[in-house]
Amino acid sequence: MAQGTCSHIEAIATVKDAKQRRCDECVKIGGRWVHLRICQECGATGCCDDSPNRHATAHARASKHPVIASAEPGERWLYCYPDDAFAEF
Ligand SMILES: [Zn+2]
Ligand SMILES: [Zn+2]
Ligand SMILES: [Zn+2]
Repeated sequence: MAQGTCSHIEAIATVKDAKQRRCDECVKIGGRWVHLRICQECGATGCCDDSPNRHATAHARASKHPVIASAEPGERWLYCYPDDAFAEF
């Protein structure tokens, strides 16, 4: 889809949407989140780096799933961790 970014982002044909609008890891520990991100490999929803627990980044590091999308209304972008690449869609 998005050309000129990185192979991980280019490999995404359909951007996954959030299954539910919450961070499951935060719900488990009673944490709070600021924004939500969606793992494009497995669809897991996690909280952003402005959130205290940064579960989206923790998930990407632990699982080696490279690309997240914003789950925020009106935001349409992808981010690849290993390449530090952004793409709008
Ligand atoms: Zn990449
Ligand atoms: Zn979280
Ligand atoms: Zn994942």
